[in-house]
Amino acid sequence: MTKTTLKYITTMLVVALHSLAANSQALKCADPKKDSQAVQMATDYLRTHAANKGNQAQTVNTVIKVFFHIMRLSNGNSPGATAAQITSEYNALVSSYTANNICFLNAGFNYVDNDYLDTAFVAGVDNPTLFSAYQVPGCINVFYPLKIKGSNPACTNNCGVGGTSFQIPNTFCLVGNGNIGLGNTVAHEVGHCLGLFHTFERSNGTETINGSNASTAGDLVTDTPADPYGLTTPCYTTSKNGCLYTGTCQDANGASNYTPPYTNLMAYWWAASTPACYGNLAPTNGQYLRVNATLSTYAPLQSCQSPNDYTLNTLTVSSGFFMQSVINSLTTNGSVNLLGSVISTLGGAHTYLKPGFKASPTSGSITIRPIPCN
Ligand SMILES: [Zn+2]
Repeated sequence: MTKTTLKYITTMLVVALHSLAANSQALKCADPKKDSQAVQMATDYLRTHAANKGNQAQTVNTVIKVFFHIMRLSNGNSPGATAAQITSEYNALVSSYTANNICFLNAGFNYVDNDYLDTAFVAGVDNPTLFSAYQVPGCINVFYPLKIKGSNPACTNNCGVGGTSFQIPNTFCLVGNGNIGLGNTVAHEVGHCLGLFHTFERSNGTETINGSNASTAGDLVTDTPADPYGLTTPCYTTSKNGCLYTGTCQDANGASNYTPPYTNLMAYWWAASTPACYGNLAPTNGQYLRVNATLSTYAPLQSCQSPNDYTLNTLTVSSGFFMQSVINSLTTNGSVNLLGSVISTLGGAHTYLKPGFKASPTSGSITIRPIPCN
């Protein structure tokens, strides 16, 4: 290994993992949807999005390190995910953002044995800092508990939520075991981490149907239509019709011709009925722009991003986490020693390990892998 120069070349990875299966607990976050016109608009929306994604090769502009944590009981039982599920979750995450030239380096996963955090943590009540000790610096951390307690509109008796990111933006989030592969919850929660609000967000003010206040209300994104989901008015709650909205709720202008964003990544319409109503949930270009703005301004997320190229000069690391990602080329130079209990993942489009590189972990692990984009 020490005399070897290795070159890793990425291959395009195309994945589409969207499950249509759902159950009554399939609600994302601490929150959880009808006329012929709405159907037409939903169809148009899908067509527009497909055109946006296209099939042309993408240029990776950003590589974000992501680390996964499988929660278990203290005796090692009742894991919140399997290793295979972590792989599929990672692939789903990559697939959701590749159209925006964002890629993720899979920095690895570990097991966190903590009875309370695996099955009893209450979202919206318990302190998120309970997860702080387990977070890997410089990575977006996704935790998989077996269960996340908390209330949602469909079940207010602490029956559980599908996921939470605690705040927007953030560098860590939870995805409950029941939401693995469901509603693209992992990309949804990471979307919150990357600055995205729900399409039906009200805390910024309620978006009007004509979109005149779209940049300052709702989700602060102008190409996502006003979303009546979650309106607490009787006209909403009594007008659900399976997967479609057929209500007559009026906005501030007295208009009622909502055309909900049924398949948006940050909407809840996919789970409006059982089984799940919609798959292939995805962000819009406007949401991607908001993600880009967040990535360029929110310091904790900037530490999760990668330089174009990087040279790893002489150093020895023998404990803790050591993660280094690049967009293009990562090259070692001189005596680079990764030893002891260090847990390290290196990667990018190309990784060059020059003479002098030594990976000799005892209880730790060294992983070198390409990014699956471009
Ligand atoms: Zn959410």
